[in-house]
Amino acid sequence: MTRIADLLATRRTVSVEFFPPKTEEGAAQLRRTVEELEPASLDFVSVTYGAGGSTRDRTRDLVVELQAAEPYPAMAHLTCMGGTRAELEALLADYDDHGVHNVLALAGDPPADGSPPGGDFRYASELVELVRARGDHFSVGVAAHPELHPRSTSRAEDRRHLAEKLRLADFGVTQFFFDADDYFRMVDELAALGCTTPVLPGVMPLTNPAGVARMADMAGATFPSALAERVEAAAEGEERTAVVVEAAAELAARLLDGGAPGLHLYCLNRSAVVLALLDALGERP
Ligand code: FAD
Repeated sequence: MTRIADLLATRRTVSVEFFPPKTEEGAAQLRRTVEELEPASLDFVSVTYGAGGSTRDRTRDLVVELQAAEPYPAMAHLTCMGGTRAELEALLADYDDHGVHNVLALAGDPPADGSPPGGDFRYASELVELVRARGDHFSVGVAAHPELHPRSTSRAEDRRHLAEKLRLADFGVTQFFFDADDYFRMVDELAALGCTTPVLPGVMPLTNPAGVARMADMAGATFPSALAERVEAAAEGEERTAVVVEAAAELAARLLDGGAPGLHLYCLNRSAVVLALLDALGERP
């Protein structure tokens, strides 16, 4: 069983995030994507966990299936807000039994209607401790927000909590962002707090500007208008893909040149842009 912490200790990683499909058609699309990504020799993949645990069983089944198929480890995203200790322990025990030993420990978000989340947890760091308690065969990642988490009350508080959480974890994965300086500033601020846990930058090479704008709004990320305009001006299809890949490759190259420990790619269950990006970077065959 490969721990992502061990991979990061030996090489620069390339990983991709999937979401659990809702329909048979979506499942078939994802199966094609997994096959098409084979030549990319990914180091690991991750599978998201729907808000408030809404995809718990689908996430679990997909992670277990991908993990069993190898050749790379599958990391399960898991949120704790609103969950009980017993529920989360049962899910972690199930993952343990199925050889899934890489977990991205997240807080998740409170219910959109403003009602209290309930449950036994408030912050991601509490879930990191729960995963850690299962033993050293687990590797734990956490989320990081280069442009600050939307619920943070100040930059200093955001960085202090992030440094504390990263010290408990093995690695971080960031929210997507478009300016490499935001990432490097975060890394420097963490280092100033004595935290040098590796943080993988999350890169979003997406061809749908309206969708990116919506996600950026929710995640507290800036989607530069110049980039949005360039993507919108390009005809859908090959021309738009080329613009998106060029922008993502420029960002990724700056990140890697500046010492980022790898790349985590948000691919929305599609392979074409990921393959073109890795090709442009000369990162994989
Ligand atoms: P935390 O680290 O708990 O931080 C949340 C806020 O609380 C921050 O403002 C932090 O500064 C503050 N804070 C932390 N500790 C303390 C403390 N002790 N006292 C006071 N304040 C504190 N969501 C999903 O639902 N499913 C997913 O699959 C998913 N995947 C994600 C993957 C990545 C790479 C990223 C970056 C985010 C993902 N998210 C996902 C979103 C995430 O759940 C939300 O951003 C959520 O709002 C916060 O999660 P967190 O783990 O960053 O929380």
